[in-house]
Amino acid sequence: MNNTKIWLSSPHMGGNEQHYIKEAFDTNWVAPLGPNVTGFEKDLEQFLKDDVHIAALSSGTAALHLGLVLLGVEAGDEVICQSFTFSASCNPILYLGATPVFVDSEPETWNMSPTDLEEAIKDRISKGKKPKAIVPVHLYGMPFKANEIKAVADKYQIPILEDSAEALGSTYKGRNCGTFGDIAALSFNGNKIITTSGGGALVSHSKAVKEKTVFLATQARDAAPHYQHSEIGYNYRLSNICAGIGRGQMEVLEKHINLRRGMHDFYVDFFKDVKEVTVFTEPNSDYFSNHWLSCIVIDSNALGKTSTDLRLALEKENIECRPLWKPMHLQPIFEKYPYYGGEVCQQLFENGLCLPSGSNMTESDKKRISDALSNFFNIF
Ligand SMILES: *Cc1c(COP(=O)(O)O)cnc(C)c1O
Repeated sequence: MNNTKIWLSSPHMGGNEQHYIKEAFDTNWVAPLGPNVTGFEKDLEQFLKDDVHIAALSSGTAALHLGLVLLGVEAGDEVICQSFTFSASCNPILYLGATPVFVDSEPETWNMSPTDLEEAIKDRISKGKKPKAIVPVHLYGMPFKANEIKAVADKYQIPILEDSAEALGSTYKGRNCGTFGDIAALSFNGNKIITTSGGGALVSHSKAVKEKTVFLATQARDAAPHYQHSEIGYNYRLSNICAGIGRGQMEVLEKHINLRRGMHDFYVDFFKDVKEVTVFTEPNSDYFSNHWLSCIVIDSNALGKTSTDLRLALEKENIECRPLWKPMHLQPIFEKYPYYGGEVCQQLFENGLCLPSGSNMTESDKKRISDALSNFFNIF
């Protein structure tokens, strides 16, 4: 029996990636600049529309870090961040010596709760400190409640740094994720919907912000023949080789979105008669998720088995799955920081699971997954 590992989300090449890499070698553009970097940025700008300006960077984390720098976050400042996320959303707040303030999710999109956000802002202001920025996340590709979050941010005049690392190709009311924030971050890490092996991008609505980003990402060199610096620089630009992978990946992005959404439909279909399982789905037609990862929540009281039982059962069949993100306010390194909200994201963490979701899943992979699930849920 074929028992090779089925991954949660693995790189899926389109075919032309090596063509762009070869071109970089042939022309000796083996550097953190060159035609692939420029071309990849153009491809992304055309895809996201909305007149955005994109700076390709070495990672999504680098984009979030520079995003905070550009929004003027400094040591001692406070930054509000969605608690239910990957640690890279908030680590850069600590890089700058600022303090993260965590906010719970709402149950519809699993993302930042607009009411908890407003409560957090009011309370921080009453304590004498107005937050410098808000970091909401489109988790698993599901758009956050952009209109409501933006209304709160506008009311208190606090800029949004949008973490769109998981949501390239997702839309809210027809508008692309990555275009809602004052600044947004994308990621092209190996497990994301498209990959450059490692990489990211900063999205803004101004050419000046893009130019400033590139300046900071290339060691902040002043215009002088010698090396002159009046600001702290970073080495965060994307390599022209990695950008070549990105150009190839952009050719298949739409196709990969459809395949990921197909995996979500596969699970919706499988679980349609399993009342103890809820598949994470868009609340209504305003939301279009790229379904980067397909997730479920299990009612373990009704089922008599837990999400851990399911994870271990699938692992026995060499099928990778993973608990949902452990909220940041429950992490040993972050638990000392303020938190606003209830137990929405904690409940999701305790009862949820990410299932194999790659765009490269074969029919035989799907058969193995549905056999293993059928066994666990006693469906014959
Ligand atoms: C992947 C990811 C990041 C970081 O991106 P890298 O390119 O891996 O640095 C940030 N936020 C979220 C939500 C992510 O999933």
